[in-house]
Amino acid sequence: MNPNSSLSLFVGFLLAFAVCETGSAASDVKTLRETVTRKVEAEYPSLLGIYTNLHAHPELSFMEVKTAALVAGELRALGFTVTEKVGNTGVVGVLTNGIGPTVLVRADMDGLPIKEASDVPYASAAVVKDMSGKDQPAMHGCAHDTHVTGFIGTARLLVSMKDQWAGTVVFVAQPAEEIVAGARAMLADGLYTRFPKPDLAIALHTYSGMAAGVIGYGEGTFYATVNSMDILVRGVGGHGARPHTTKDPIVLAAQIVLALQTIVSREVQPGTAAVVTVGTIHGGLKRNIISDEVKLELTLRAFDDKVMAHLVASIRRICDHLAQAAGLPDDRLPIVTLTPESVPVTNNDPALTRRLVSTFTEWFGANRVTLRPPTTGGEDFSEFRRQGVRICIWSVGATDPARIAESERTGVPVPSNHSATFAPIPEPTLKACVTSMTAALLDLLAPASRSK
Ligand SMILES: [Zn+2]
Ligand SMILES: [Zn+2]
Repeated sequence: MNPNSSLSLFVGFLLAFAVCETGSAASDVKTLRETVTRKVEAEYPSLLGIYTNLHAHPELSFMEVKTAALVAGELRALGFTVTEKVGNTGVVGVLTNGIGPTVLVRADMDGLPIKEASDVPYASAAVVKDMSGKDQPAMHGCAHDTHVTGFIGTARLLVSMKDQWAGTVVFVAQPAEEIVAGARAMLADGLYTRFPKPDLAIALHTYSGMAAGVIGYGEGTFYATVNSMDILVRGVGGHGARPHTTKDPIVLAAQIVLALQTIVSREVQPGTAAVVTVGTIHGGLKRNIISDEVKLELTLRAFDDKVMAHLVASIRRICDHLAQAAGLPDDRLPIVTLTPESVPVTNNDPALTRRLVSTFTEWFGANRVTLRPPTTGGEDFSEFRRQGVRICIWSVGATDPARIAESERTGVPVPSNHSATFAPIPEPTLKACVTSMTAALLDLLAPASRSK
């Protein structure tokens, strides 16, 4: 073989390699998708077992001890560096696989104090302690068990496909989302200082209002800002037969509840989302006693911080002035308090969201990826958006498509998240959780050889 022919062979090889590389980007993704689908199928029986076990054994906010132990054990067995008890019951698993971005993946772990009334064979009959030590019925009524299962499945897939990604993943199993305290607790306990600080943070939430396996997304505001407010309406108590000697806080509380209804209907611009809900009202001791006080608990929702500030100011104004109209002295005006059960708007980074939507469309098909308007629910995943960390959370449908179609026909809503009868159908919900999270990570952490 002369030098010229070996040179041309070498050039030919280079050309063939270059053609193969450029031509392979699309087929790379197709092969990757097929590999992931195969692996999800193989993992499914085990993941279903994890899911039904979690579903039957929910734990309440900041009491997720067994769930946290399960997650920690799984991640540790997969080779993650695991730290437990971050922000009370939170778990952090870190896995570095070469040089690349750092992506945080979050799953929330807590159930709700609801007595489950679904008809699935693995329905929860659990009665567990809440943070205060009180026994409560418990249910995974917000499907955080699907999130934890999807999280474990994603970790397994990533570890089995280390040649397909480069960078660091920070897997965060977060406590107490339902009281929007867990994310703050983990951040306060050094989530962004003791562990690799993420460039991006991603999460998913299962949603009863969409057909199982469908992905829902939104840019910008995706979940509302939520404020939790307590109002202590004070009166001057006395005998029920001698109302003229008292200032009745029950009558005043009733006036306040009705007047609060005018904030959204009369003060907020039509078309602007805002909610003022009085969820509890407690007052009185006995029918013939006019009590000293009535307690109200409210939840406020908005898609804009200025609108939220308006709601809060209006509530204070209405409380003060109605109490004055009732003749209460200044030192007995209602006490209005915002509780820590409050979160800012969940703001999905537009560029990150667009990138993931393009990935999901490629993986799931356009008919299974749908734009969702922002919801008035709150999410403390919003807390991870700080110190330049860009975030995106998406929805995964969880309800039998036939039931969704029936609901559209009859107008009768399907059971919502937080309903005692809500139970996601595991297939294909769990697969969509694992696949969407894995697809997102394989895209965000794509090695240089697999550019899109
Ligand atoms: Zn919830
Ligand atoms: Zn939830």
